[in-house]
Amino acid sequence: MKNYSLLINGKWKCYENLNKIYISNPATGETLGSVPDLNETEIKKAIDSSEKAFRSWANTTASEKSLLLRNLFNLILEQKNDIAEIMTLEQGKPLSEALSEVIYAASFVEWYSEEAKRVYGETIPSWKKNNRIVVIKQPVGIVAAITPWNFPAAMVTRKIAPALASGCTVILKPAPETPLTAIKIFELIEKAGFPEGVANIITSKAELFGNVIMNDKRVRKISFTGSTNVGKLLMKQSSNDLKRISLELGGQAPFIVFDDADIDLAVKQALASKFRNCGQTCIASNRFYVQENIKSLFIKKLKKEISTLKIGNGMDENVKIGPLINKQGFNKVMDHINDALSKGAIIEYGGKPLQKNESDNFGFFIEPTLLSNINSKMKVSNEETFGPVIPIITFKDENEVIEMANNSDYGLASYIFTQSLSRGIKISEKLEYGIVGLNDGLPSSAQIPFGGFKESSIGREGGHYGIEEFLEIKYISIGI
Ligand code: ADP
Repeated sequence: MKNYSLLINGKWKCYENLNKIYISNPATGETLGSVPDLNETEIKKAIDSSEKAFRSWANTTASEKSLLLRNLFNLILEQKNDIAEIMTLEQGKPLSEALSEVIYAASFVEWYSEEAKRVYGETIPSWKKNNRIVVIKQPVGIVAAITPWNFPAAMVTRKIAPALASGCTVILKPAPETPLTAIKIFELIEKAGFPEGVANIITSKAELFGNVIMNDKRVRKISFTGSTNVGKLLMKQSSNDLKRISLELGGQAPFIVFDDADIDLAVKQALASKFRNCGQTCIASNRFYVQENIKSLFIKKLKKEISTLKIGNGMDENVKIGPLINKQGFNKVMDHINDALSKGAIIEYGGKPLQKNESDNFGFFIEPTLLSNINSKMKVSNEETFGPVIPIITFKDENEVIEMANNSDYGLASYIFTQSLSRGIKISEKLEYGIVGLNDGLPSSAQIPFGGFKESSIGREGGHYGIEEFLEIKYISIGI
């Protein structure tokens, strides 16, 4: 079994003498390898190296940074099949989805290779005659990037690419479930020619990493994607020395279908939005609001499509739904289904686990599930399910559905299906969400500002907004 090395200060090191974190395939339970469980001394060495590298990296020209990012983009695309395979083995998603994610991940690198050249400043007319006002933007400093397991490649590049493009140096801590995809990307970062220490990768106990970076004033920026609880903890911890912080947390997306919608399109997009990554995405639709007069038709069409989805090991051909990542995720989804059933929900499709043996710590498959007769007391109406469950809730009119849709502590993604332009625009403006998919169930891409209202996010990732999170604004008052 392979013990993977980490890239710190430009060198790959295996840390044979330290404890290990084991990675297993969630579909089969097979152990894929191990990564080191770094201690405080080693994490500190990564910060030292980032500090040293920052001095020169911050001063490289925009075109040098751009070129290295472009090299990385090309390398990721060249090796996309290898990266996708690693991802499916450690994360479980179907291979075709993993491949799409790698291409999506590469698109952030391409976008920021171009954006690196556009870190523009400003001149402002002064109020004094003998004075000029110049505004420039500079990299914030050392960035600690913490990523989740649901998008093992794209969440890494969505943080690292803008950080590097802005002139920051980065320490990445990938999720313990999926470090191998990140390590592969770091092999390509090295190959692309980035100077030593500009990008370091750490694997360690999460709390230890959190404590070390939070207690080190040299780390100036935290970029985190993960659970709301951990996000809130990091925000508290970062207040000690007011580190800059970006958070991408949970969602509880409403998916609204009006009776004037193209129903076939809505059904197709519902499937894409809900069953991608087995429902384990923060923009996955969670609550399906269907206008009451089209409920039966929508359910009938949805059932037909769901019945074609093959569940299984993501490496097998034609599989569309892989396993949930772990037992905790599995228990939560089953709890949501059982809670809904105990409060009067009706199973329209699925609803059962397909795990062979309760005691096994792998193979957490759940049938794609369609539930109707949902009420507001059920967990599926109020909490993020993070699994392959569609609860159908009916509504009468626009006002009712807007109120229900906005009744959430989260505000990340929302979806509306209607063929009325006027209704689509009016409702998009009323939804308290950072992302609205208007007749679109897959709104993510490199050029958009990804993020949400309320407890879903602080800051935005992607597009020209994304690089701002890694830049400080400096104003120079020039006496002449
Ligand atoms: P999930 O429950 O979906 O795994 P988490 O928020 O726990 O979501 O994990 C997202 C990322 O945050 C992972 O890389 C994880 O290791 C890391 N993490 C979890 N707790 C902490 C913490 N206290 N400090 C820093 N990172 C953490």
